[in-house]
Amino acid sequence: MIPDADSVSSAGVVGAGTMGHGIAHVLALAGVDVRLVDVEESALEEALSSIERNLGRQASKGVVDEEDAGAALSRVATGTDTGALEEAEIVVEAVSEDPDVKFGIFHELGETCSRDAVLASNTSSISITDLASRVPRPGRVLGMHFMNPVPVMELVEVVRGLQTDDEVVEFTREMAERLGKTPVTVRDYPGFVSNRVLMPMLNEAMFCVMEGVAEPEAVDEVMTLGMNHPMGPLELADLIGLDTCLSILEVLHRDLGDDKYRPCPLLRKYVSAGWLGRKSGRGFYRYDD
Ligand code: NAD
Repeated sequence: MIPDADSVSSAGVVGAGTMGHGIAHVLALAGVDVRLVDVEESALEEALSSIERNLGRQASKGVVDEEDAGAALSRVATGTDTGALEEAEIVVEAVSEDPDVKFGIFHELGETCSRDAVLASNTSSISITDLASRVPRPGRVLGMHFMNPVPVMELVEVVRGLQTDDEVVEFTREMAERLGKTPVTVRDYPGFVSNRVLMPMLNEAMFCVMEGVAEPEAVDEVMTLGMNHPMGPLELADLIGLDTCLSILEVLHRDLGDDKYRPCPLLRKYVSAGWLGRKSGRGFYRYDD
């Protein structure tokens, strides 16, 4: 039986990085008890302090009540074992964009979670149908693709795998609405809509820098002032994480088989150097703070 989205009281989030802590934040704020799981203790500690800081910021701006912010924080529990997710009615997987890691997690979730649990992935590009094939009930699996930063961005791209049940899609749309988001349903193809359209633009901006067409600041200024984008493509790539951008482009390139998606060599070089964008303190820009 699929639960009613309004009555969901228990959720799991696997992966406590940039996206995982944001997803835990919005679930907890909507009154859901969240268990946040990561392999790294340090990621869990950082995630909790980010959630606390971001809730505090929302409270100081009057976006949420002080009391609600405090209650939300107390609803987030952390741990390193997916075995603790057996009670969760919905689990959102938000681990690194690596197919083998995600396949392993879905296999574990299929073994541990209740038969009725909805298993969602926040993947940016990996096949939902392929992830679903790792669990006993593939009809329960779909994409729930939040945008970064999760507490701020309105869209949730709901991705229907080949075998996803209609009621699971409907439940997830209602769940997104409960979190104050707007769901848009799309079908499962590499990169879905968001990254299939976005990533080639970010990649092309990187080629502009690599070929010396312009400095990063100039490329971003052309796109913000000229195209009315709120943020330039290189600033956005740094926010997303350059390792995540590279992984998405590799999936697009391999699975669509078209060289227009080939990752820019400069992106590969930055990732090899550990320049991952904001999260590592350096990408196309430096983030000294
Ligand atoms: P991130 O690198 O910030 O965090 C990934 C986390 O996963 C890390 O804390 C890591 O320790 C954890 N992890 C790795 N293997 C694990 C395992 N086996 N079990 C549990 N935890 C594990 O990555 P992110 O930017 O938060 O991206 C997470 C997912 O969200 C990816 O699929 C990405 O494509 C997607 N996504 C990212 C963005 C973005 O802007 N960063 C936007 C939308 C979707």
